[in-house]
Amino acid sequence: MTGGGRWLASFLLTTVLPILAFAVLAWLSHGSAWAWALAALAFALVAGIRSRQLSMLSQWLESPDDSRDADADRGGGEVLAKLGRRLRDDARSRETVEARLRSFREAMDAVPDGLVIVDAAHRIHWGNRAASHHLGIRLPRDAGVIIEHLVRAPGFAEYLAASDAGVPFVLQSPAARTRVYTVRVLPLGERNKLLVSIDVTDARRVDSMRSTFVANVSHELRTPLTVVSGFLEHFVDDGVLDAEQRRQFARLMSDQTARMLTLVDDLLTLSRLEADDAPASEEDVDMADLLAQLLAEGQSLSDGRHRLEVNCQGPAVRGNRKELHSAFGNLVSNAIRYTPAGGSIRIEWSVGDGDGAGTFSVCDSGVGIAAEHLPRVTERFYRVDRGRSRETGGTGLGLAIVKHILLRHQASLAIESEVGHGSTFRVVFPSWRLQPAD
Ligand code: ADP
Repeated sequence: MTGGGRWLASFLLTTVLPILAFAVLAWLSHGSAWAWALAALAFALVAGIRSRQLSMLSQWLESPDDSRDADADRGGGEVLAKLGRRLRDDARSRETVEARLRSFREAMDAVPDGLVIVDAAHRIHWGNRAASHHLGIRLPRDAGVIIEHLVRAPGFAEYLAASDAGVPFVLQSPAARTRVYTVRVLPLGERNKLLVSIDVTDARRVDSMRSTFVANVSHELRTPLTVVSGFLEHFVDDGVLDAEQRRQFARLMSDQTARMLTLVDDLLTLSRLEADDAPASEEDVDMADLLAQLLAEGQSLSDGRHRLEVNCQGPAVRGNRKELHSAFGNLVSNAIRYTPAGGSIRIEWSVGDGDGAGTFSVCDSGVGIAAEHLPRVTERFYRVDRGRSRETGGTGLGLAIVKHILLRHQASLAIESEVGHGSTFRVVFPSWRLQPAD
């Protein structure tokens, strides 16, 4: 039986039938007038009770609350109780749906790619937070606006019309022209479209750095290779060169080959350093021993043209000896190469009083570096004086290698320099890298 049928049966059994039975009894005992009067009174009473229940229901629907629901229950208002339960269930499932929608929106806002849904007429329906950064769409303000009216990049409207999802559209940010995005259009359902925008600024920057790097390496290798190939042509023409000329050309070719080898070695060192974030192994590096080695190598490179001093006043440092030797050796070799004969170079290792940090420094009285070059000297192939660097066998990669090694040891590099007066390169190690005093 349906709910309505059940209600009718219960109404007949509990209300109509007792009233009729009562009326029949009244008819038999007091006559028909009494019976009609009693039946009319009983039905009027039932109608009054029902109308009061309806008015309570109407009031309750306007502001349903539990207490009145309970009252209604006590008063036999089963309908109200059921209705209350149904409304509470509805409210609960509405809250669940809203919570799910909220967390879905939050998830979509957390996606770094821009997402926009447009309809067949390209009217904006929805977009996430990244889309507002990438395409300048602000919701709810722009809901219903045709997307081509907001994104006014040349070719964008044609791209949307063609909708070739295979090829992305490249777009410069309408707000900051320095950022670049790619936009793809994907079909969504029968008529809608999903626009996906991706920030490719960093990827493009890396690409451009890579191609600049390849161009630089090619350029660096081209010069010595041109020299060697030129000499080799003379060698092929037998009889053109006398023995002395051959010896001289062979020496020059050997110099150029050595230069290429140094460059390749430095490139390999850089790529090895870039491959991992930390050195393969670490040990307590005896700084007195390392500084003595740096002094000996410096003296050999200077060949008596400079005055070299060493001052070691600190404990061992935790690190990779080979890498630290390579970094410090680069700084000493630069000091010698960029200091004219007669100048002086001081190599020091000391511990600061306050923070306990260890400082390795190389101070020279050489040519110095102008302030505008200082922020860039650790870039690959950046040279202040290209000619001088080449003359002294520089590859332009020395300080880039130093920077990488120091990063791997959580150390920092500070440069002070004055043109014509010299430079000081300071490497500062955090105190936890120093062996504690006994
Ligand atoms: P390079 O092989 O050319 O020396 P580096 O990376 O070692 O390359 O150094 C980059 C540039 O920084 C050098 O070309 C040079 O102009 C400048 N430089 C480095 N060290 C010194 C220094 N001690 N004195 C003056 N200039 C220096």
